Amino acid sequence: MEMSFPLCRRCHEGELVPLSDFGSQGASIEYKAWICTNPECLYNIKIRNGDIIINENVTDASHMNNHSHAMGRRGMP
Ligand SMILES: [Zn+2]
Repeated sequence: MEMSFPLCRRCHEGELVPLSDFGSQGASIEYKAWICTNPECLYNIKIRNGDIIINENVTDASHMNNHSHAMGRRGMP
């Protein structure tokens, strides 16, 4: 049996997969967050203390001011 995840509504390429976490008491918190599998998207939805948080930054790399164009070049093998 294969589980299918919902398609990411933002990039339409990745899938939203559920992530689980563990609370301070070691109890598992299932499906605490959903995140897009597309590494260039990383759209995410999570819940914290009952509040839904949409697309919180998971990395600041794409928002840095010193945006180097060396990053954009993909080397050929
Ligand atoms: Zn996406």
